[in-house]
Amino acid sequence: MPDTSATASRLTLSDLAPDTYQSEIRAMTTACDRMGGINLAQGVCDTPVPALVEAAAIQAIREGQNIYTRCDGIGRLREAIARKQLRDYGLAYNAENEVLVASGATAGYHVAAMALLNPGDEVLVFEPFYGYHVNTLKSLRINPVLVALAEPDWQLDVDALRTAITPRTRAILVNTPANPSGKIFTRPELEEIANACRRHDLFLITDEIYEYFVYDGARHICPATLEGMRERTIVLSGLSKTFSITGWRVGYAVADARWMPAMAHFHDLTYVCSPAPFQVAAAAGLEQLPVSFYTQIAADHESKRGRLLSALRDAGMEPAVPAGAYYILARAARLPGKTAAEKARHLLAATGVAAVAGSAFFRPGRGEDLLRFCFAKQDAELDEACRRLRSL
Ligand code: PLP
Repeated sequence: MPDTSATASRLTLSDLAPDTYQSEIRAMTTACDRMGGINLAQGVCDTPVPALVEAAAIQAIREGQNIYTRCDGIGRLREAIARKQLRDYGLAYNAENEVLVASGATAGYHVAAMALLNPGDEVLVFEPFYGYHVNTLKSLRINPVLVALAEPDWQLDVDALRTAITPRTRAILVNTPANPSGKIFTRPELEEIANACRRHDLFLITDEIYEYFVYDGARHICPATLEGMRERTIVLSGLSKTFSITGWRVGYAVADARWMPAMAHFHDLTYVCSPAPFQVAAAAGLEQLPVSFYTQIAADHESKRGRLLSALRDAGMEPAVPAGAYYILARAARLPGKTAAEKARHLLAATGVAAVAGSAFFRPGRGEDLLRFCFAKQDAELDEACRRLRSL
């Protein structure tokens, strides 16, 4: 029998695992489910699926559209996505080789990183950040470099952007409208970022999953529309939020034909394809829903935003008003607890409302008096959450 007493076991996690696993958001969801609370933590978005999208999915399953599709998606959906980009942003993409239907924007991001970046490369990510943006890079041994946005309203700090760029920088990631801050990058800010990309020959990866969640008359700007940016921008978005189908896993990437075959290859390798019947349903939604459907999303969520903002103020927290997306970051200094995670757990125990610790969106030591609340909820549930928050 080999004597292993003197040596550590080789049955260990990878070097990466301890650094990236256990998202705080998921932990709060688990704790909330255990006590039957109202989950304003995860961006699950439980508003209704558009009826025609739901019907199209059921019909597609019944008709037998249940087998693998092309790894970059069915032609009908690729064409619908290309038409949408043209309609909304005036950007022309060839549906045959410049559109990738991905298993969510998450997969689009993952395969873009695999196809375009190398271990040791640096990618600038603005802080506060969405955890997947950082952890996906780390999981591929690519280094996220955090560039803090300036408080209180998360403006781009141009000097911080310039000084963060090194010879190893390969890409800048922009999430607009942003999770968790709700920030919509302004045109001058996007111009600065585009300048940096052109000057240093960088990719721009944009996560535009909240493109229709814009408030107070704001308009989403697709950064690929800026001069000279189409060829170096990987646009990521999807239907998870727009059609309330986060569990269906239908998203996309659009990018220049130079980058797409490699992205499609890695999508094939890691995800095979987005679920077939849900691709059909997403295509039906994009083809048939009127433009007013998208403006209505903004109006509905603007109303939800208003109700949650008012309840948070009444509860003695200091919410920042988000310009887009569907989260509110609120200062929760009045809640007991040294860390944001402790404050979130206190709030859950006291009210049955789950929020995410702000620290999940910042480098260690930051965000400890912030909580993030999601307002993409059915009205009745959101109103009950507001009532409970007011009772605090
Ligand atoms: N990107 C951002 C910024 C998000 O907040 C989320 C979900 O919360 C996603 C992407 C996930 O998108 P998908 O469901 O298309 O993978």
